[in-house]
Amino acid sequence: MTSTTTQTLLRLDHVSKTYGEGESSVEAVHDVSMDLEAEKFIFLMGPSGSGKTTMLMMMGCLLRPTTGSVHIFDEEVSSLAESRLPHVRRNRIGYIFQGFNLFPALTALENVEATLNLKGIRGDAGRAEARNLLERVGLEKRVHHLPEDLSGGEKQRVAVARALAGNPPIILADEPTGMLDSKTGRLISEILRDLAHKEGRLVFMVSHDNRITGLADRIYHVEDGELEEQ
Ligand code: ADP
Ligand code: MG
Repeated sequence: MTSTTTQTLLRLDHVSKTYGEGESSVEAVHDVSMDLEAEKFIFLMGPSGSGKTTMLMMMGCLLRPTTGSVHIFDEEVSSLAESRLPHVRRNRIGYIFQGFNLFPALTALENVEATLNLKGIRGDAGRAEARNLLERVGLEKRVHHLPEDLSGGEKQRVAVARALAGNPPIILADEPTGMLDSKTGRLISEILRDLAHKEGRLVFMVSHDNRITGLADRIYHVEDGELEEQ
């Protein structure tokens, strides 16, 4: 029997997140469910403060939901012991943080190498793989530059290379084009789209950039922590 449906890699089931307790508590995400498949380039759009980063962090096992569950492949990660989470993050997730979040004192190569080291790829193998990943994002001529000597687009390429460390099947990106001009933003988005379409990954990207929505396979909109699909 053949099937044309692609595999669900990440699933949110009635996920909510409340920060704090009592009168000062804030419900940042309310009852969000979604099924996210391999090979898809999916956008999450919404105004500032609508819960996008909170949602992404729960997908990336950086934050636990208050209620509801998160599944990565067939594993319910939202109820895993804290000690098991680094393993999931290391093997399944590449995360591009809001802002570039590079180590300012490390070169492009060392930034990628540091992430590889954290994922257990060390020594000569780590260095060679860091070079390889920077080449893949077109940065082979900039490997020894510090972040301050790189343009915004180049810094974001380093962040993409870093997210590819360890070859994760899921890439989560928090406003990766937010600090870039339109042309550079589009280039970065095209790199991310290719990681989905040509390499079979799930790429889920937070954006409020209307110029690049044409690249997405699916767009979710979030308003006050609640979701609607478009
Ligand atoms: P977005 O990424 O869409 O701008 P966030 O997920 O960062 O939204 O924030 C959603 C809501 O949750 C906002 O009201 C924000 O102030 C609040 N919030 C975010 N992080 C925290 C936190 N650590 N503690 C308390 N409130 C938070
Ligand atoms: Mg945010």
